[in-house]
Amino acid sequence: MKKKKKNENSSKIFEYHDHGACFGDAITQIEDYFIQKKLQLTPLRRKVFEILIEDHKPLGAYDILDKLGEAGFSSSPPIAYRVLDFLIEHGFVHKVQGLNAFIACSNPKHSHFPTFVICRKCEKVAEVSEEKSGLNLPSPRITNFKIEKTTIELTGICSTCENAEIR
Ligand SMILES: [Zn+2]
Ligand SMILES: [Zn+2]
Ligand SMILES: [Zn+2]
Repeated sequence: MKKKKKNENSSKIFEYHDHGACFGDAITQIEDYFIQKKLQLTPLRRKVFEILIEDHKPLGAYDILDKLGEAGFSSSPPIAYRVLDFLIEHGFVHKVQGLNAFIACSNPKHSHFPTFVICRKCEKVAEVSEEKSGLNLPSPRITNFKIEKTTIELTGICSTCENAEIR
């Protein structure tokens, strides 16, 4: 398999990309990670991840449950939430607070604070790297407090929706 621009942690969903390769890469990454960490990639964990990587769309918990049901998994909400929490903890899934939805990480190998770009119209979400977003936020100085997690969500309009609005 050809190595593609690995650092191109780009806004995949807003651009055309070779999704077959992307999907395969993502599955290989999670498989390798689970082996390395001696964790079990149970069929349910794998399926939840596959559902989320499938079209890079953010999905609500109930959409995920529906898809699990369609795929023949009988999964109760608490079990699905446990799987999601687990995948979040290991960096393969992020929660998009603004949409109350879950999305597969586009670059799970690196530990990072995700930045999301959300189109308010079509609700497409892209995860962008810190360099790409150009945000370069100063670290907040809050005394007696250690920041462990930051999520930045930028809401706006994607070029496709914007062009449709102008016309
Ligand atoms: Zn893809
Ligand atoms: Zn990520
Ligand atoms: Zn849009």
